Amino acid sequence: MTNRSEAGWNFDNSYAWLPKTFYSSLNPTPVSKPKLIIFNEKLAESLGLNGRNLQSEEGTEIFAGNRLPDGAVPLAQAYAGHQFGHFAMLGDGRAILLGEQITPDGKRVDIQLKGSGRTPYSRGGDGRAALGPMLREYIISESMQALGIPTTRSLAVVTTGEDIIRETLLPGAVLTRTASSHLRVATFQYAANWGTDEDVRTLADYTINRHYPDIEENENRYLSLLEEVIKRQASLIAKWQLVGFIHGVMNTDNMAISGETIDYGPCAFMDTYDPATVFSSIDRQGRYAYGNQPYIGGWNLARFAETLLPLLHEDEKKAIGIAEDALAGYNEQFQSYWLAGMRAKLGLLNEEKEDETLIADLFKMMHAYQADYTNTFRALTFEDYEDTALFGSKEFTQWHEQWQARRGKQEKSNELSHQVMQSSNPAVIPRNHRVEEALKAAVEEGDFSVMEKLLQVLAKPFAHTPDQEEYCELPEPSKTPYRTFCGT
Ligand code: AMP
Ligand code: MG
Repeated sequence: MTNRSEAGWNFDNSYAWLPKTFYSSLNPTPVSKPKLIIFNEKLAESLGLNGRNLQSEEGTEIFAGNRLPDGAVPLAQAYAGHQFGHFAMLGDGRAILLGEQITPDGKRVDIQLKGSGRTPYSRGGDGRAALGPMLREYIISESMQALGIPTTRSLAVVTTGEDIIRETLLPGAVLTRTASSHLRVATFQYAANWGTDEDVRTLADYTINRHYPDIEENENRYLSLLEEVIKRQASLIAKWQLVGFIHGVMNTDNMAISGETIDYGPCAFMDTYDPATVFSSIDRQGRYAYGNQPYIGGWNLARFAETLLPLLHEDEKKAIGIAEDALAGYNEQFQSYWLAGMRAKLGLLNEEKEDETLIADLFKMMHAYQADYTNTFRALTFEDYEDTALFGSKEFTQWHEQWQARRGKQEKSNELSHQVMQSSNPAVIPRNHRVEEALKAAVEEGDFSVMEKLLQVLAKPFAHTPDQEEYCELPEPSKTPYRTFCGT
């Protein structure tokens, strides 16, 4: 009996057919005492995997990297990119791609182990990951999925039975991550810097075939590729902004060509609205602050465009002109996705000239009165205003009148407007204090029930049911700001 027939593995390994420079073949490093901590049954089902079969000793061995599923061709991917603006050779230093699962509906999904041991790209690192950060990635990526934001997903977390050394000893873990691919801006940068123009072309053709088959016949398909990636990033980052998500480390290795959110390290959701919000302990300049994310998206896309120059036109000057024209569209696209999302958040179903001012005025007040981002929109949705500085202010009363007058200008019913608001304004986001509480119980006490309950609530962010109420509450005021750390 094979894994394939029992567990549902159905691998193809197209990435392994790329030139050898793009990866290193190797197996995950086995661990001593793997234990399955959490398994995503719904995701498994959508991948065509047999959840019952995989929640077994055999499945645990697979998710730990001790045993290979049938058809896997394990490899670490090479990439090189800008970290905080500085270029470096990177690559999967603690991850192994097992292969691409072909799902029952014909999708191709990467199955990757994260924390699976050293690789040729590990540099000084141990190739391992700690339980806390892997559970954190699980919680936040699954919450993003429920919020309707493109993202990599989390299939399973196992503990390894081995401690890893960070500032203290921490329990080691392996996360099984799925993604529509792990192609990154940094994969292209690697090809452009260490490969030939032919390597870049091969990678671009592979990417088009895998993610953008509709543009294959276009006159300048490489320009189309650039335009498509710009469009998806503009849409993705607009979605982040609309829910107050801060990625925290938007290096070019953490920007996926597919337009999925990838690499959940020091990310976190903003409570109090402030464009300058930064959680990551290493982001001292605020490069990746909430309000800077759209700009950094454009910066990363410019790095992507540079790698495509030889493919865009044989005359370099002309190629630069083509790339610049495409990049010029990014800001406008971001703005239009964002504005459409903001209109929905305010229940505005048509477009009026005054909308941008109305929105800007709201943000000005939210900033001045230190309003909670998520709860402000929730209060507007239900017209249920707590006694906060914002809602008690004269400015808000005036703004509210303008908003109601504006809503009155649309032909569609108030009920529809309210429905759109409900499905655009989540009640529950993974608030930092809730995530920390769940991780603390899991890591320090081996109690996973807090996390499981949190995951259940996060799976229905737009339900607005009374049982979710406690998850909407704000943290106790704290003297020290919330800080996040890279998951290394
Ligand atoms: P990240 O911050 O997770 O995006 O990782 C940035 C780079 O550091 C990637 O090349 C990772 O593979 C590598 N890296 C992170 N943690 C480790 C580790 N513990 N061992 C080896 N490489 C690592
Ligand atoms: Mg990364």
